[in-house]
Amino acid sequence: MNIERVVASIDRATRDLETPLIQRIREHLHRAQTRLQRELRPAYASNLGAATANFESRVFREARARALITQLDAAIQAIDVSAPGAGVSRVLQQSILEGTAEGARQAKTLIREAERTFGVTPPASLAPALDLRAIQAQVDGALQRLNRYSLEAIEKVNDAIVEGLVAGRNPTRVAYDVRTAITGDPRARELLAPGIDSRGRKRLMLRKGGLAFQAETIARTEMLSAVNASRMSEYTAAGVQHVVWIATPDEFVCEHCGGRSGRTYRLEDVIIPAHPRCRCTSLAVKKEWLDDGLITRDELSEHRSTVLRAYREEHGPDSRFATGPSAFERANGRDTAPSPVNL
Ligand SMILES: [Zn+2]
Repeated sequence: MNIERVVASIDRATRDLETPLIQRIREHLHRAQTRLQRELRPAYASNLGAATANFESRVFREARARALITQLDAAIQAIDVSAPGAGVSRVLQQSILEGTAEGARQAKTLIREAERTFGVTPPASLAPALDLRAIQAQVDGALQRLNRYSLEAIEKVNDAIVEGLVAGRNPTRVAYDVRTAITGDPRARELLAPGIDSRGRKRLMLRKGGLAFQAETIARTEMLSAVNASRMSEYTAAGVQHVVWIATPDEFVCEHCGGRSGRTYRLEDVIIPAHPRCRCTSLAVKKEWLDDGLITRDELSEHRSTVLRAYREEHGPDSRFATGPSAFERANGRDTAPSPVNL
């Protein structure tokens, strides 16, 4: 088996699945942001003009700002990505459904290939058993988080308007703050890439990426977790007990996933995604597959070196992988990283 080819094809499939979702989020936020700016600019400028001309007190300016916010209420509320009118929930549900089918398909393809090699008659193709209630629960959880981040962004927009009027800031500066809260700082745009490591880049994006970054992170992570959960349950159904952790070997590989990549773990010890925007996957493995060279140990260590090289190119020649638990392992109550096993 060619590991890098398998990883590339899984990565491509996942991206294809998340593309409509990311597009929907971007379109919605772009439209909301354009509308708000169109209504905000003239209204803000005239209020600012009145405030500076009359040397109003702070209290008056704040009252003016509150009135302005009320006037813009519909445009401000339209920022909410989780609202039914945003259309994100429908696309999210579809993506999670397709992700579940995709994860099952990946697992089946891999196991069939292996079993054919070993002369086992592959089972008849099974349609994935979609647990629609579980999928809906996942969608609802994601929408709740989208709503929470939307409300935070709305709060930031309100603050930008109030602070702007109180401090007498020019309309361009306020427009910039509003845009940063919603669609992110345009100078940080190139960082809205598919992956993210958990070092400086992440902090930068949280500050500069706005609601767009957070919403895309939630969408991508939910997608990935649907694909992975489904792949793992197919593995379990096929009697697989171990998986090889595989990270996508590029500049986004993080200090947790990089260290695990190419190593073998007990299925129940693996939590993927390991953190928001994680792009890891898992390959089923059995001792006889390794012994018979279906997956070779050399291939696995070659993969480990590729990942380490990519990581060090990004973080410096002496940088090391983390040894502790990842964000989602901690969230699941684990205080240590999983221990690799030797098959
Ligand atoms: Zn990862």
